[in-house]
Amino acid sequence: MSQPPQASAELGDVAALLDQAIDEQAAWMHGVYHAIIRRAEPGPEIAGDNAHLLTRFGLWYETHRADPLVAQPAFRALGELHRSLHSGARIICGRASKRPDIPREELEALAVKSRNFVAQARRLQAAFRHAQADLDPLTGVRNRQRMLGELDKERERAQRTGLPAAVALVDLDRFKAINDSHGHAVGDRVLAHAAAVLAERLRSYDLMFRYGGEEFLFCLPAADENVAGGILERLRAGLESQPCDLGEGRSVAVTTSIGFTLMEHGVGPERAIERADTALYRAKQEGRNRVVVWREPLPLRPETKG
Ligand code: GH3
Ligand code: MG
Ligand code: MG
Repeated sequence: MSQPPQASAELGDVAALLDQAIDEQAAWMHGVYHAIIRRAEPGPEIAGDNAHLLTRFGLWYETHRADPLVAQPAFRALGELHRSLHSGARIICGRASKRPDIPREELEALAVKSRNFVAQARRLQAAFRHAQADLDPLTGVRNRQRMLGELDKERERAQRTGLPAAVALVDLDRFKAINDSHGHAVGDRVLAHAAAVLAERLRSYDLMFRYGGEEFLFCLPAADENVAGGILERLRAGLESQPCDLGEGRSVAVTTSIGFTLMEHGVGPERAIERADTALYRAKQEGRNRVVVWREPLPLRPETKG
């Protein structure tokens, strides 16, 4: 899993960048029409071989095209539209400065490319805004808005494949004391740090949500008790060994207690969360900084008559 706080910042950047790209495109198109109508020698922002790289969007896309958020077909299509729009404009403007008649179809084709670019940028922007609305701004992990629905999908998959999915509740230990001794702002940094340390140790297909204040919920698909216990123990130990660095030689250590159970045999998301919560409560009672699996309570022993 990628580090959540970075993903969050990039998602925000992308939506804003696409906004600018649409404005930039309108201003640039205006310059293109102006050059065509006046039959003026076009400037380097239109006539240059790599004119598309002189735009903010073009340069940004070229620099970020390998980033995971950008290396996807919808973005590639936008990058190609942008490049093709620029090469089309270069050819038309070059001709317009030399001969009076530009075939109407060529002008129309350029206008269509421009409209397609704006439409594709808007579609992408909507998708990024949608994804961003699902993210908790402090930690960059998903908020609980769609959590139950996602867990339900994993329960269905578990039933279909016969491979159980684990549900874990993860609660930072004595977090109030961190706020009390270092202040709320440092508390926020420690919380974001803990989320990043935990997230980077999950498998790529595990799910992580911010469940409440300093609590997270994980869903680990295709994990029986042993596999899930191993992953969660790795998360716990990883956080314990990586204090949050505050700079100037200062750091704050934080640990976590984890309770988990499996979704299987008719145990759906709600029941699994209740069970994970019971196990978490036990982890706290038994001294914190540990992983505890939910166990069926022992039946009450019948009273023996004396
Ligand atoms: P325990 O080990 O029993 O979980 O102790 P705790 O102190 O973590 O638990 P408690 O529920 O008493 O306190 C949780 C604290 O987490 C209180 C609340 O102020 C803090 N907290 C919750 N959300 C945030 C947040 O977004 N930022 C900061 N800085 N603190 C938060
Ligand atoms: Mg709590
Ligand atoms: Mg706590």
